[in-house]
Amino acid sequence: MTTRGILLRNARRAFGDRVDIRVRDGAIAEVGPKLEASGGDSLLLDADGALVIPGLIDGHLHLDKTLLGLPWKPHPAGPTLSERIEAEKHLRHALPLSVEDRAANLIRRVLSNGTVHLRTHVDIDPEIGLENLYGVLSARERFKDFISIQIVAFPQSGVVSCPGTAALLDEAVEAGADLVGGLDPAGIDGDPDGQLDAVFDIAERRGVGIDIHLHDRGELGTSELVLIAERTAAQGMGGRVTVSHGFCLGEVDEATFGRTAERLAESGVAILTHGPGSQAIPPINRLRAAGVTVFAGSDNIRDSWSPYGSGDMVERVMWIAYRSGFRTDQELAVAFELATIAAAKALGLDRYGLDVGCRADFVVLRGSTLGEAIVEHPRRSLVVKSGRVVAHEGTVIDPPE
Ligand SMILES: [Zn+2]
Repeated sequence: MTTRGILLRNARRAFGDRVDIRVRDGAIAEVGPKLEASGGDSLLLDADGALVIPGLIDGHLHLDKTLLGLPWKPHPAGPTLSERIEAEKHLRHALPLSVEDRAANLIRRVLSNGTVHLRTHVDIDPEIGLENLYGVLSARERFKDFISIQIVAFPQSGVVSCPGTAALLDEAVEAGADLVGGLDPAGIDGDPDGQLDAVFDIAERRGVGIDIHLHDRGELGTSELVLIAERTAAQGMGGRVTVSHGFCLGEVDEATFGRTAERLAESGVAILTHGPGSQAIPPINRLRAAGVTVFAGSDNIRDSWSPYGSGDMVERVMWIAYRSGFRTDQELAVAFELATIAAAKALGLDRYGLDVGCRADFVVLRGSTLGEAIVEHPRRSLVVKSGRVVAHEGTVIDPPE
């Protein structure tokens, strides 16, 4: 990848001050008012007073499931988790585009909206084996200069209840997945210890992180969170374990919430939310006050699980804020951290932000304040990844075919 010297002029940071940003060798080299252009600035850009924000992070996306780019398909699934799993299995046999090409469609969409890092969950089960993983690995390779992608080997059909899956998860990690996933250890497998033993064993042997989908409700869900926290602490995996969704945290009484949040914070287990429409949302401020890392992702976009989703993390931040009852600019700024610095922490990304020395990943968009930009979520004027302009006015530049 060729990185260029860039001077971005006249950009406004989230809290109002205007700065110029100089980029060299993929990193932010200088930040300040009215920088002088130098011979190394091969590209001069004028933000014209628009906001500059760090490159956005989508902490939970299903690249292999999306139908984006195909003709509209009416949503097929029933109301329960098991019905949706079966509906998806039926659908995936009849898709005219490969996993790689559908993943590429969604990658282009999120890139155009300023997402330059993402974590994706890829289905692994005995029927499809590692097929979806290979498709997403190919898409990751195609877009490696445009976006960084972490892959979770995700047991969509369960682990203990779906014989052969544990061995496939292990193979998936060997083949290039960065994390091992889980799914409702009680609700899907009916064997919390069995699933968690398998998942934590793979993580320990392979030296990878963990990201577990947890939809189980109420105190059943919080009891599983405690089991996950205990194993995370026992294996010294603090900071490398995520529980996605955790609706239960928004459903239990104050005392149960307090005890559970304390265990999550002590052990270093992060919580991911997509701002669910029909389930309880984990209480973001109370979790943060307890010391828990909370971050954000899109989850399903235009697939058999959800007809919704735009691939825009600024819009997603607005929905999370809306579901959380946030109204002030300060509260909106908290929600924004879920798709930026909190997500960088959860994904273990270093040199993240707009300071000198950080990777030159940033996005320019209109908005007189960060709050206005979140509510309006206007088209992104500019997206820069590692010092390279990857999207301009909502269009990805030179996308790989
Ligand atoms: Zn998911």
